[in-house]
Amino acid sequence: MLQVSNLDVFYGPVQALRGLDLVVNQGEVVTLVGANGAGKSTLLRAISGVVPSRGNIEFNGQSIAGKAPEEVIATGLAHVPEGRRIFPGLTVVENLQVAAYALGYPDRQIKADIDRVLEVFPNLANRARSYGWSLSGGEQQMLAIGRGLMARPRMLMLDEPSLGLAPRLVEEVFRIIAEISQKGTTILLVEQNATMALSMANRGYVLETGQVVHSGPAQELLHDEAVVAAYLGGH
Ligand code: ATP
Repeated sequence: MLQVSNLDVFYGPVQALRGLDLVVNQGEVVTLVGANGAGKSTLLRAISGVVPSRGNIEFNGQSIAGKAPEEVIATGLAHVPEGRRIFPGLTVVENLQVAAYALGYPDRQIKADIDRVLEVFPNLANRARSYGWSLSGGEQQMLAIGRGLMARPRMLMLDEPSLGLAPRLVEEVFRIIAEISQKGTTILLVEQNATMALSMANRGYVLETGQVVHSGPAQELLHDEAVVAAYLGGH
């Protein structure tokens, strides 16, 4: 479904990705693991067209390299960046509407999509008319994911969705990601909670200084001594 090959990204003189290769097959959950600064967020940004890159990126057999973010999302590939970034002065429903208006969807479809998204997030449904600023961290994160779902993506890229959340909410976010996956959306997940993320994934990639240093079935990575010692808090 997604095929990245030989991808380079530079921030000025700093090379953040070095000839990176990655594949995500339809229906999979794939987790990216790596230390701070390894290039995980940069990879998601490059795929979604937020930062320029050199190399090949194909989504459903179509080249999306060099496309603008709004063109990438129109192909069915949505990105929920780190840090939530919802509109504090808009309500939950308005935040979802804005995402869909930006995509040019008709009003009737938007209404149906909001109902569909709120079904996934019962807590948000209860707060549909609340302003973004009044939501808890967990609710804001759910809203950020819900906004990504408004695009009806075939694949969703999530950057640190559990960052800064209490353990109970981390579990809730993972439950929701599993539900989105079961409903047929392919997922590429960046998570500092690497053990939890790999536990729900089919496959994983380990990044170091902009390169893939390990990859394989998630269960294999979870039991790989070097990966456990370096990234999963083991010995
Ligand atoms: P984190 O979990 O800290 O976000 P990451 O694996 O997602 O880590 P990136 O944020 O992709 O890593 O960063 C990769 C490299 O690119 C790092 O060396 C970082 O300092 C650098 N970098 C990231 N964003 C920028 C930027 N806007 N300008 C310059 N350098 C950047």
